[in-house]
Amino acid sequence: MAKRLAGKPVVEKIAEEIGGRVASLADKGIVCGLSLLRVGERPDDLSYERTAEKRAESLGIEVRKTVLDEGVSQAGIEAAIDEVNGDESIHGCLMFRPLPSDINEQAVCDALATEKDIDGISSAALAAVFMDRDFGFAPCTAAACMRVLDYYDVPLEGAHVVVVGRSLVIGKPIAMMLLRRNATVTLCHSRTKDLAAVMRAADIVVCATGRARMFKAECFSPDQVVLDVGINFDEAGKLCGDVDFDEVEPIVGAITPVPGGIGSVTTSVLMAHVVEAAERTTSA
Ligand code: NDP
Repeated sequence: MAKRLAGKPVVEKIAEEIGGRVASLADKGIVCGLSLLRVGERPDDLSYERTAEKRAESLGIEVRKTVLDEGVSQAGIEAAIDEVNGDESIHGCLMFRPLPSDINEQAVCDALATEKDIDGISSAALAAVFMDRDFGFAPCTAAACMRVLDYYDVPLEGAHVVVVGRSLVIGKPIAMMLLRRNATVTLCHSRTKDLAAVMRAADIVVCATGRARMFKAECFSPDQVVLDVGINFDEAGKLCGDVDFDEVEPIVGAITPVPGGIGSVTTSVLMAHVVEAAERTTSA
């Protein structure tokens, strides 16, 4: 049986780290402020919002919610972003996406001040990740994958990592972050030839495709470390990852579960980024 790389101890470690930092900021009269910006009432967004609110509250981070009507205009959303940018009590902003299809989403993302872009959605923040620069923040899910690998002491230098999925939210940034740590990275996607063989050859596999339980035994080999980033629902409405956990767990060396894996750490990374954003205002 594989070692289960649970998110819980990672979450606890981050909470411990954050606790002291929130207290030091409070001593300087700074209360960390998180803006949650939502358009409409999508169930996924509402669920993530509740989780983020609860986590922030437990850590002493103040939440400010902005909810815009589904029919909001480009100018309306950008005005809400301007307000966040200009509000000194807000240190970081999480905007739920996707935005409605008639909105130019990248323009909205780029309107957010880089220092408050705690989920790496702006072009500037992503450019920093791609250029190995330390301003801005990386997308939280990619950062959560790195946290999990580090918490469980998975060696990265020289390791062959296969990342399946090339989105700007997960696949591409995680590939860059792994490269920075001297891993050898193969970035795969829906057109990759003989994907199962490519995956089997890796030391570490990161699956981020959004395809429920698509990756089965033939894609894996013994001793591999598997990070399953997918958050999907199967035909029965059950939450599951991209990896067929029951089939793959007996083969590999270590694997993150879904639920209880990367997803749970992502919210904690978001909180860590808010705290860091608040700290940066004191050293600016
Ligand atoms: P996208 O739909 O933006 O990207 C999916 C990627 O997977 C694409 O690059 C696509 O390839 C690739 N892909 C799709 N099908 C296959 C296939 N059959 N074989 C190989 N590659 C394939 O998804 P996201 O990156 O936004 O999200 C991925 C998953 O991560 C989802 O399940 C999402 O819910 C989850 N997620 C998890 C989070 C967490 O905190 N754990 C946070 C955010 C998302 P191509 O480019 O060729 O189309």
